[in-house]
Amino acid sequence: MLDTHTHSTFSDGFLSPEEIIRLMYGRIRESKEKDAILSITDHDSTAAIDETMRFARKMLGETDKHVYLLPGAETEARKYIHILMYFNPDEQLWKKRSILEIFRKNESARDERNRAILDRLGELDVFLKYDDVFGNTSGAKTRSNIADAIARNGYAADAISASKLYLRHGCPAHVPLESPLEAYELVQIISDAGVLPVIAHPYGIEAASLEELRACGLEGTEVINGNTQFREANNFATQYDILRTVGSDCHFNGNKCFGYSYFPNRKNTCSYHHISPEILQPIEADFREKILGWLT
Ligand SMILES: [Zn+2]
Ligand SMILES: [Zn+2]
Repeated sequence: MLDTHTHSTFSDGFLSPEEIIRLMYGRIRESKEKDAILSITDHDSTAAIDETMRFARKMLGETDKHVYLLPGAETEARKYIHILMYFNPDEQLWKKRSILEIFRKNESARDERNRAILDRLGELDVFLKYDDVFGNTSGAKTRSNIADAIARNGYAADAISASKLYLRHGCPAHVPLESPLEAYELVQIISDAGVLPVIAHPYGIEAASLEELRACGLEGTEVINGNTQFREANNFATQYDILRTVGSDCHFNGNKCFGYSYFPNRKNTCSYHHISPEILQPIEADFREKILGWLT
């Protein structure tokens, strides 16, 4: 079982890192799998990694099922390009200055965008206070916090509808994020830091851009994100023999399944479709082989 892309309360997810790990343990217990690889990839934050690693290691000794935690984070470049990064658990590179500097730059750009969104919402008679939206957020403050506050305050049925009504591209309160870095710069910094850069949900990204990113040190691409499969990215990864990853990108309540799950008796409702084991298993086998040394 594999889920290399989830969000916790350290950015805009709704579960704490411990709850995510426990949830994953619950899932492997329900299945025939003996272990899982899980990465919590909060937006521009690695603040939870040390504590989460300690918790994950403690849990390893308590049961015959194992959830291996692969430390990670997600960051953003211009043009909505998101880059995941994965850290070797033994190297502590999530504290490296160049990595933290990426987060700092994005955080200040994001704060400006958030304030502009709240202004736009006010013009649309959706009145939210900055502190009410972000008061309990310990990590990155993102549009998911705003979507959640819109729903909490009764302006939409739930966070996903809030996002569709107001925040997404083409919606009245959409404000693009002016991320300070281009994707190739970001990939280069991450790669130079000795960390694995992987492109997240590569919607519409041209093969040529992937080649450019590969030249700057891109080590992998997400090929399944939630219910979306990225066939072009999959072909690219196969051609260049780079890492293929699979993530649920779970953020919200009601969306708490792990995307890669193929649990026979899945009880939770899912906002994405079932992806068949025939597609998932070879990707996972490949992934395990490539990062094998990191998980012992
Ligand atoms: Zn993303
Ligand atoms: Zn994400």
